[in-house]
Amino acid sequence: MAYTQFIDGSITSGHNSGSWVNLNPANNEPLGEVHPASGEEIEAAVRSSEKAFQSWRTKTGAERGRVLTRTAQILRSRLGEIAILETQDVGKPLAESLAVDVSSAADALEYFGGMAAGIHGEFFDLKNAFGYTRAEPLGVCLGIGAWNYPIQIAAWKAAPALACGNAMIFKPSELTPATALELARAFMDAGAPPGLFNVLQGDGVVGSKLCEHAGIAKISLTGSVPTGKKIFAGAASQLKRVTLELGGKSPLIVFEDADIHNAVSAALLANFYTQGEVCSNGTRVFVQHKIMDAFLKELKVRTERIKVGDPTDPDTQMGALISKAHLEKVLRFIESGKAAGAKLLTGGLRSEKDFKGRDIRAGNFLTPAIFTDCEDAMEICSDEIFGPVLSILSFDTEEEVIRRANNTDFGLAAGVFTNDIRRGHRVIHQLQAGTCWINNYNITPIELPFGGYKQSGLGRENSLAAIQYYTQLKSVYVELGDVDSPY
Ligand code: NDP
Repeated sequence: MAYTQFIDGSITSGHNSGSWVNLNPANNEPLGEVHPASGEEIEAAVRSSEKAFQSWRTKTGAERGRVLTRTAQILRSRLGEIAILETQDVGKPLAESLAVDVSSAADALEYFGGMAAGIHGEFFDLKNAFGYTRAEPLGVCLGIGAWNYPIQIAAWKAAPALACGNAMIFKPSELTPATALELARAFMDAGAPPGLFNVLQGDGVVGSKLCEHAGIAKISLTGSVPTGKKIFAGAASQLKRVTLELGGKSPLIVFEDADIHNAVSAALLANFYTQGEVCSNGTRVFVQHKIMDAFLKELKVRTERIKVGDPTDPDTQMGALISKAHLEKVLRFIESGKAAGAKLLTGGLRSEKDFKGRDIRAGNFLTPAIFTDCEDAMEICSDEIFGPVLSILSFDTEEEVIRRANNTDFGLAAGVFTNDIRRGHRVIHQLQAGTCWINNYNITPIELPFGGYKQSGLGRENSLAAIQYYTQLKSVYVELGDVDSPY
């Protein structure tokens, strides 16, 4: 298997220099070879996307919308085969790829497909004149993805971009080259013009060349804060627009009046879904002193019941971390937590056998970890780990927990559990985070904007709000009388 480029409607056959082997995180066996885009392929992709943009922008919103909704239907009809590719590439449980990844990509295409015909400007009645605005597309947009939700990230970027009349070049993470190609195929099968959605494989070097390319009008990145800063700095030299969806170290606050069972369910979702490799995870779980024992008792029991194992088994609840290097990084954080004096309540060990007794030593498996007795300054409580490591912090008062929750440079997400409706809103309104939940966690419906405050990003994805990040407003003044001139 070779992962090459998807340019102008077809997959390239070129086997380029500098290729690398893509490994299955569940056993570290090769899935195929990734061939990074060459300089000529980058130029060909930009030319092809510019051409597609010129025809696509002249289509009506309804025509564009039909292609997007057909693409969604195609993804749903290929759900099983795409989900298995995603699971092999990322290491996440098949149950998740089926229920969330591919479906959420289709949701975005349906949502923006339905909206395309309604994208419009405004009308202004002026004295002896009128004015109007047009929401015009930007041109060829660049999408750059992280490795944890490859097809979802690609669709969350492509759907609004294309609905607004832009074309897109997408660069997946070097670790997950597979499913962006499936999205490209689905667009073609749905009747998109060749070049409307091109895929270029590559690492940060290819990403950086694309960002600098004068043919790229806008960059949308999902990735880490350091990469976001580099891209933002580079984009400034050409005043390119950017949307940045970056990392987080989000708080989940559980007050003593909360429903403990639901709060534990949310803490598990907020830390162990996709092996904990989720940007918005609530990895700092603040629990009010009085309910700490009851909360921990249930949390430990349910964490130890999580079925870690072969991601392709439909019963598996936690799969393998993306790479050996990432697993080692997460293990280093666990050692750092122990050395700093936090107590490892459970987990944090390399798994040798899975929940059905199968030998999984060859894969990047880790048992879900809970640290108690944590302090805010510990590295495990300040840095994004991006693995299945949950830190418990105790608090006494509302004022105290708000201050501590906000004491971070990140601001992606936050959650509050309480049965006091006034407290729920009061606390959420004071938390410095772009995506918040009251009495749930990590639910991201397409209707709600998604994005971060502070260093967690710029701009928003999903919802009506995304439209403004893929259009530019043209103001038009129309005179109905004579020109009033002093000359
Ligand atoms: P990285 O920042 O390492 O990489 C993100 C993407 O950027 C990859 O495709 C990468 O290429 C590319 N890239 C790296 N350097 C450059 C550069 N100089 N110019 C252009 N592109 C570049 O993040 P990870 O892939 O490791 O993903 C994990 C991070 O993503 C976490 O911090 C996580 O929080 C964040 N994330 C944020 C989400 C959000 O919506 N807020 C959602 C999901 C993840 P390559 O990897 O191929 O080298």
